[in-house]
Amino acid sequence: MKDILPSVEILVNKLIEKGNPPTEAEIKKIEAAYLLAREQHKDQKRDNGEPYFNHVFAAGYNCARFGMDATLVIAGLLHDTLEDTGLDPEIIKRQFGDDVLHLVEGVTKLGKVKYRGNERHVESLRKFFVSVAEDMRVVIVKLADRLHNLQTLQFVREDKRKRIALESIEIYSQLASRLGMGKISGEIQDTAFPFAFPEDYEKVKTILESKKTDREAIIQKVFDTITEHLEIMEIKPLAIQMRIKGTYSLFKKLVRKEWNMEAINDIVAIRVVCNSVDECYRVLGIIHAEYKPVPGRIKDYIALPKPNGYQSLHTSIFTGDGEIVEVQIRTKEMHDFAEYGIASHHLYKKAQSKRLQKDSFNWLSELSELETSGKTPSEFLKQLRTDFFEDRIFVYTPKGDVIDLPKGSSMIDFAFAVHSDIGFHASGARQNGKYVAMKTKVENGAVVEIITDKKARPSSKWLADCSTGMAQKFIKNYIQKHGGIFEKWMV
Ligand code: MN
Repeated sequence: MKDILPSVEILVNKLIEKGNPPTEAEIKKIEAAYLLAREQHKDQKRDNGEPYFNHVFAAGYNCARFGMDATLVIAGLLHDTLEDTGLDPEIIKRQFGDDVLHLVEGVTKLGKVKYRGNERHVESLRKFFVSVAEDMRVVIVKLADRLHNLQTLQFVREDKRKRIALESIEIYSQLASRLGMGKISGEIQDTAFPFAFPEDYEKVKTILESKKTDREAIIQKVFDTITEHLEIMEIKPLAIQMRIKGTYSLFKKLVRKEWNMEAINDIVAIRVVCNSVDECYRVLGIIHAEYKPVPGRIKDYIALPKPNGYQSLHTSIFTGDGEIVEVQIRTKEMHDFAEYGIASHHLYKKAQSKRLQKDSFNWLSELSELETSGKTPSEFLKQLRTDFFEDRIFVYTPKGDVIDLPKGSSMIDFAFAVHSDIGFHASGARQNGKYVAMKTKVENGAVVEIITDKKARPSSKWLADCSTGMAQKFIKNYIQKHGGIFEKWMV
């Protein structure tokens, strides 16, 4: 690595550290992308007055930090050139190839999907977001971009700030989490939390500070004892860490526990990162020999991984000072997977994701069925293109909410997907402004409006003209309850 710019060296070193060393040719391309982006953004400033280029550099750096390869770092550096500097796409294509252009165009397109707050159909919007991206790599560059935007959010106009923060929590952190990128998901949530829910944030902060001092001393004592005992037993784990629960995740838990702080024992957890699975179990044994475990709280996610592939041993121990502390024990591979998910390098080597189980709620877990061995992160993610959305269509309500439906759905399915009341009182439909029959199929990307009438009632004929389980169920229930009316109609 002779004669490369120091900033480019930072990117290259991150790639190496994360196990994705770039080739000489790739290093030259990263440098070219760096110079092109710097030139393109040279007259632009961020809201806080710093050069705009700092933002795109951060996005490229984040891609490397997430465990992505040189292609994504280049796409990160160039992600705002089409939208913000009007760079000719041909230049990107010629210098960096179709693939990088396709990624930059994808990120530009995704930038236009807007969350308007209080969405009733957040899940649809998440899927829509992924379908617009067409390629999971685009989602990841977008996460890298968004994370840096959040870090400078205090300089953004107040109304816009709130929208960005909510969108980040509802859409971006959720997508990161489903990709198994727990660390990134947590970073996004904790950076967005104060802007999204300022009052709740203050409340959580106050609670945390009031509990802090006593607990910290107790946990430090446990930490020191565990460290000492492992030394005595000649076990040298890769790391013993204190992990502090993110403020947003603590907030969610506090809400679940009705703000009873006493019910939460994992604000600070101790984490031991081991050299092998065998060592994990030995460490667990040593800890249990010293501290009594809380019954029912020992979880062996190594033998039985969570549906998203998460592996670790969890135990909660009585400290003897009236406190309970959670301990997590895992190997380096498991640790990387928990933090960086599908982007973690080890996954590609081990094809560990084959162990992931299909989970109907966790729609992105379908990615677990893809072949991962011998692929670079970029190749893997490319294959991940959103094939599993091929049978879905996305339709807008007149208000701009996105509804996702299976292919072949009709106006009846749409009406019930929006709201059961709309289905029950639907009297007509308009697709892209044109009146259509209720049995008409909805088109992908259409704006569909259902016309309702208080006197209108579902017709039993509709059963033949709808395909979603939800619409079928509503109509059948209705017919059962109000059968008389329908029998008369049907004669
Ligand atoms: Mn950007």
